[in-house]
Amino acid sequence: MVKDDEDIVEQRRTSVCPHCAGVNPSNATVCRHCMGPLTTISNSDPMGSIMARGDVFARATNKPTKPIVFWGVWLLFGPIFCICLGIAVYGIRQFLSGEDSGAIGGLLCIAVPTALFGAILWKTTRNYFRYRDEKEDDESND
Ligand SMILES: [Zn+2]
Repeated sequence: MVKDDEDIVEQRRTSVCPHCAGVNPSNATVCRHCMGPLTTISNSDPMGSIMARGDVFARATNKPTKPIVFWGVWLLFGPIFCICLGIAVYGIRQFLSGEDSGAIGGLLCIAVPTALFGAILWKTTRNYFRYRDEKEDDESND
């Protein structure tokens, strides 16, 4: 982080979330109320912005508490994943048919984003239903 940013944050002691007006600790990069990135970091520091967004996605995939998060992740990554998967399947078929022996290079390139987006979607979906089941179990136990 840039030194000036730290000074600004230190002066404020607390940072107010621009999305929900919730008060957060000065060192927070993501709002603890709504998970939105805090502007003092995200506007002035590109790395902080990326890390804040990464943290939002990490929280969203680890414990998607709301259906909107679940659907949001699917809307964001679903189409990209389908395109990557389509290219990968096409590449595999080309490679297996022997028509294009160079397809293996393209396959390796497309395998990374396909696996990444697939993992994000899988994790979010699994955790969303796990959390939902846990919630239902708690309610039925009480
Ligand atoms: Zn907030």
